[in-house]
Amino acid sequence: MTGLEERNSFVFDFDSTIVSIETLDTLIKQNLSDEEARQRVDEITLRAMNGELDFGASLALRLGLSGARAEHFAGMAEGIENFLTDGMDEIFDFLAREEQELFIVSGGFTEIVRPIAERFGIPGENCFANEYLLDDKGKVVGVNDGPLAREGGKSAVLRALKERGRLPGVVVMVGDGMSDYQVYADGLADLFIGCGFHVVRKNVKSRAPMFVETPAALRSFLDSLLSARPCRGKK
Ligand SMILES: [Mg+2]
Repeated sequence: MTGLEERNSFVFDFDSTIVSIETLDTLIKQNLSDEEARQRVDEITLRAMNGELDFGASLALRLGLSGARAEHFAGMAEGIENFLTDGMDEIFDFLAREEQELFIVSGGFTEIVRPIAERFGIPGENCFANEYLLDDKGKVVGVNDGPLAREGGKSAVLRALKERGRLPGVVVMVGDGMSDYQVYADGLADLFIGCGFHVVRKNVKSRAPMFVETPAALRSFLDSLLSARPCRGKK
């Protein structure tokens, strides 16, 4: 990896990284009384996270099991700040103070990601996630046909940003899952920082050029990364 420039792009995953939960699964399980269905959701998520199941298929399977409605998503959005990973405020404050370009790219849902993006001052145009589709009774029946509803979606988003010249400097991807690592493997990020804050995914940890298990370790790594920039004169 080449050295960092004055302004660089930091792209964060959301579920199990910025927040402590897998938001869609938590939302689904809150509304599922059937233990067998809950276990099935866990199993689907684990397989998707381990790269054994196509992301689009896992999303459709989970939404199919969910019985979720628009108000469930609204309720999750309202309480999402309670699930914020400890230390994230400091990390985003630090990166903003250092005038870095910040993005959230999530296979979750815009409605749930937005309150956190606003808290961190990340504009909507730097925030990428899915939109759900409703039937006429307000039941969630699927997901929009955007890149993030498909396998390789994060790489597709990064590729589009890169083509539009919207990724200044060195591109750093931060996340817990294989889809986050894949962005780096696809050559769309210059550095990948694997996170094991809430769950350590072995196949991510074994591949990641850098892996942190606590937000404090991430903060300290980002600090050393940014302090090694060549032109620090104006700070
Ligand atoms: Mg994640």
